[in-house]
Amino acid sequence: MNIPFLDLKTQYLSIKDEIDPAIQNVLDNTAFILGPSVQNFEKDFAVAQQVKYCLGTSSGTDANHLVLWGLGVGPGDEVIIPANTFIATAWGATLCGATPVFVDCHPESYNIDPAKVEEAITDKTKAIVAVHLYGQSADLDPLKEIAKKHNLILVEDAAQAHLTEYKGKPVGGLTDAASFSFYPGKNLGAYGEGGAVTTNDEALFNRVKKLREHGQSQKYYHDSYGHNYRMEGIQGAVLGVKLKHLNKWTDARRAVAAKYNEGLKGIDSVITPKEMAYGKHVYHLYVIQLNAGTLEKSTELRDKLKDYLTENGVSVGLHYPIPLHQQKCFEGLGYKKGDFPNSERIAEAGLSLPMYPEMTDEQINYVVGKVNEFFKK
Ligand SMILES: *Cc1c(COP(=O)(O)O)cnc(C)c1O
Repeated sequence: MNIPFLDLKTQYLSIKDEIDPAIQNVLDNTAFILGPSVQNFEKDFAVAQQVKYCLGTSSGTDANHLVLWGLGVGPGDEVIIPANTFIATAWGATLCGATPVFVDCHPESYNIDPAKVEEAITDKTKAIVAVHLYGQSADLDPLKEIAKKHNLILVEDAAQAHLTEYKGKPVGGLTDAASFSFYPGKNLGAYGEGGAVTTNDEALFNRVKKLREHGQSQKYYHDSYGHNYRMEGIQGAVLGVKLKHLNKWTDARRAVAAKYNEGLKGIDSVITPKEMAYGKHVYHLYVIQLNAGTLEKSTELRDKLKDYLTENGVSVGLHYPIPLHQQKCFEGLGYKKGDFPNSERIAEAGLSLPMYPEMTDEQINYVVGKVNEFFKK
């Protein structure tokens, strides 16, 4: 049996009769950039995330940049981000000319550890980016307190967190602003690149709207620097259709996670993902951590399990194999191995199992069976 890591084809076929006419409609209207399909999606997505404003963008990376750019982050500023995240979180800062400052993650949520943030603050610190990694919210309340105390901007990288909740409210409108990604493999995925900026701040919304389109107030009148960060019409149409199914798909992901948790709970050396009491996890990724005593032994066990699953047709992933402070591109910042033990541990002993809403019980049981089989040997 072959279990893919995710299955975009099955999902497309399940909604083909809605997607195809929606795309055809864009072709017929030739509204290829922004246009009605994007405007409608922006409205609907703002409602889904319970936030006032939403702007569709060309990618999540671009949305990361727009959020910090719109909030005035620039050269000389430092931006605090977790060491355990996808690289694009850091590009938000570097594209503004600012310097990323890394902070370790919490050992259970794998998200930025609020207890470690204050020691990273300097007189150059301008912003904190809370990433809702793997589909689980960062612990926002203590971060808000720190931001308030030190007069810092607090934003969310919600690229993996569509419909994720923190204390009963969807993320995206809980801080100064948030960025989302609609990369095809995300929980809400376009059929190409896409992203969004969300905020409750009308002034910021207006600034980001300008920055997204060449800094213009009207065509060919450029009030400020800007860039081309617009969403395509076809992506707006696809996302508009898919958003209607997102609640159901999120429930399905949570059901897959519950079955994994149940099937793996008897294995001492497997730590299953913990849903923190403060939030609702949407399981963009289902990341287990291997524990065999020392980190070295845990890594060895992880690599063996990874090979065993791969040989048996189960596609697995690493999220992410190298924490940001150990990436070559950030060599100049002076970090070293050992600086952020929790981030290094999930990088070196974590393993992501297949996760998508269309997973059948047969597929889930196969994965669970193979993991259990590995540990019996
Ligand atoms: C996917 C992702 C991004 C970037 O989104 P793109 O749409 O691929 O540019 C940013 N941050 C995180 C945490 C992501 O997972």
